[in-house]
Amino acid sequence: MNMEKMMQDKAVSMYGSDLSNCSNEQIYLLLLDITKDLMANAPLIEGDRKLYYISAEFLIGKLLSNNLLNLGVYDQVRDVLAGMGKTLAEIEEIEPEPSLGNGGLGRLAACFLDSIATLELPGDGVGLNYHLGLFHQKFENRKQKELPDPWMTAQSWLNDTGKYYPVHFGNMDVEAHLKSMDVIGYTGKKNQLLLFDLDTVTEAIVESDSINFDKNDVKENLTLFLYPDDSDEVGRKLRVYQQYFLVSAGAQMILEDVKAHSWDLKNISDHVVIQINDTHPSMVIPELIRLLMENGLSLEEAVAQTEKVCAYTNHTILAEALEKWPSHFIEQVAPQLMPIIRELDAIAAKRDDNPKTRIIQNDIIHMANMDIHFSKSTNGVAKIHTDILKDTELHDFYRLYPEKFNNKTNGITFRRWLQACNPQLTKWIISKIGDGFLKDSIELEALKKYAADPECQKEVLAIKREKKEELAVFLKNRQGVEIDPNSIFDIQVKRLHEYKRQQMNLLSVINLYQEIKNGYVPEEKVTVIFGAKAAPAYILAKDIIHAILVLSDLIAKDEVASKYLQVVMVENYDVTCAEKLIPAADISEQISLASKEASGTSNMKFMLNGAVTLGTDDGANVEIHHLVGDDNIFIFGVDSDTVIKHYEKADYHPQDILAQDSKVRELVDFLVSEEMIALGDQTSLGRLHHDITTKDWFMALIDLESYMNCRKEAYAAYADQNRWAQMMINNIAAAGFFSSDRTIAQYNEEIWKLK
Ligand SMILES: *Cc1c(COP(=O)(O)O)cnc(C)c1O
Repeated sequence: MNMEKMMQDKAVSMYGSDLSNCSNEQIYLLLLDITKDLMANAPLIEGDRKLYYISAEFLIGKLLSNNLLNLGVYDQVRDVLAGMGKTLAEIEEIEPEPSLGNGGLGRLAACFLDSIATLELPGDGVGLNYHLGLFHQKFENRKQKELPDPWMTAQSWLNDTGKYYPVHFGNMDVEAHLKSMDVIGYTGKKNQLLLFDLDTVTEAIVESDSINFDKNDVKENLTLFLYPDDSDEVGRKLRVYQQYFLVSAGAQMILEDVKAHSWDLKNISDHVVIQINDTHPSMVIPELIRLLMENGLSLEEAVAQTEKVCAYTNHTILAEALEKWPSHFIEQVAPQLMPIIRELDAIAAKRDDNPKTRIIQNDIIHMANMDIHFSKSTNGVAKIHTDILKDTELHDFYRLYPEKFNNKTNGITFRRWLQACNPQLTKWIISKIGDGFLKDSIELEALKKYAADPECQKEVLAIKREKKEELAVFLKNRQGVEIDPNSIFDIQVKRLHEYKRQQMNLLSVINLYQEIKNGYVPEEKVTVIFGAKAAPAYILAKDIIHAILVLSDLIAKDEVASKYLQVVMVENYDVTCAEKLIPAADISEQISLASKEASGTSNMKFMLNGAVTLGTDDGANVEIHHLVGDDNIFIFGVDSDTVIKHYEKADYHPQDILAQDSKVRELVDFLVSEEMIALGDQTSLGRLHHDITTKDWFMALIDLESYMNCRKEAYAAYADQNRWAQMMINNIAAAGFFSSDRTIAQYNEEIWKLK
């Protein structure tokens, strides 16, 4: 195919002008058109058994580069653009990032779609088409402000299928409108991302300069936002409306597919598997049973088939994150489900007399309990996470259904997280070991033998340097901040949550600052970068953001400290900026309280791009640690057994540490020092200080000392650039296990059995 001619012809047919006269926006739109045409002509992946990956989120990121790469025309487009003095990166700046997800769970779903199509397995994503996303984060007066995040434009990756499915709520009927996007795999075959929307939704009901809207008006608000504020009852109920809308339309569409193939609904489990991504789509279970019964199956038959169709992925051990809905919500939103849920609860009671495994407890419906009873599989997302589920959190279920429990350690797609975001490193790897790793990621192991080679070390350091310079340009353009590529880039980017312990990072940076103020001269300058959105109703998370932004300015204003230390918080952390930050990182901060991070996936992205992990033995860090060995990672902190015991005995008190350790006391008290208050909000900083000194539920103080020491060790190791480069190469070489192609192959072998 002659890409230059295709682009020329498109320029003439779309704009009546020569390609060379097109603006970046025009070039983006003509490439969108070409790419969509190529995808429209790609063969659909088919089989006699199909997966539906149902999820509240798909954090897919921009699609142009990724789709060009998977279509095999990336290099051609790049070369045509280069001939015009342009880069794909410039063109892709025009593309809005779809705001259909929030964090790791949504990004996982996106990586999975890429790998499912690449492995040529028939499997579609099923979700909702949010108009305004989660929110767009802005910083104002050193605080997070939430704004709508519109992303749909007249021309986009979305296609209109023209199909509608009726959804019956307790108080009204609506029509779910099915939109779709093609998902092209690396071998050129495609699946779909299927997204339901409601035509009556009205963006104009959102108050200007905020994300507030009338939460009662479901017809106008249903698909406006992902995770509408659930701090009040109408907000929580709106989430239930969204969930039922997704699963009812989704289940109808699945049955329509089955009928179109003339498959017998009585054997639907031979042809369909539904992977339930966390508890948000759990109502698909009773809804599928209800629809199968409408189609002539008995309750027993419908339940038996559904239990064989569905599989559930657990993403958290935080009890507060396992959804529970009052039954009166379901009575109002989807009353037709209540009789079925009651039947399921009765069956669960017959299977087990333990009241803790019941679905309905005190008129509250436990969604995860319904998932585990009525799915064929329950999986955790990293080895330690699955072990904790079996041993503690879901132990009662594990005793009941040991055969249902299994682990699927998360993965990431190397197409986006290496090839597209780091072409320099990709090219270098190919020059050393060939391109076989692009199809079989384990081949990266062959890099190990180059780790000690000084020439190779020089080469990876030069690539890292180039990525750091690219990041500096990106941040200058994006938010006007200048960073120094000569410094250590020490990066923590992920949703803001106390268990992820950004507050511990903050306290450790206060320590670095105070040491410099006390005359210590660091060997290396450090740039500490944060990126995180806080849920709008999560006050303490917003207090942590405020404290980071205040400290950042405080250090920047200090003539001495700013020579050695800079703190940057990137605004609106999203996939686009992850793709810039991660390849530029020297240190990957993965410092969650042991036992609390189910897996993490940014840890894998960083490793693959040659950053060294500074972290706890938690989530997939445990597996990273095992793969790279003690010499290529910095591990600190108490282990998960210790943490779990503290919770069981309720014997962790931050006051004990503060009374014993005057240094820790000093760091925490700095939060409410005159210096901080001079730039910040006393109420917010006081609230954070009060929480850490009296509660510290996620135990930031328990590891603070060992974290600060370990961080110093990492900085010292960085000073020896040859040793550091050796660690970088060893990390890249060991990252093959974390390809989502491996994860998906395991899902398929053990759960989906698609071919
Ligand atoms: C990978 C990714 C995440 C998940 O990060 P964790 O550190 O694993 O929580 C969240 N957001 C974005 C934009 C990502 O790319």
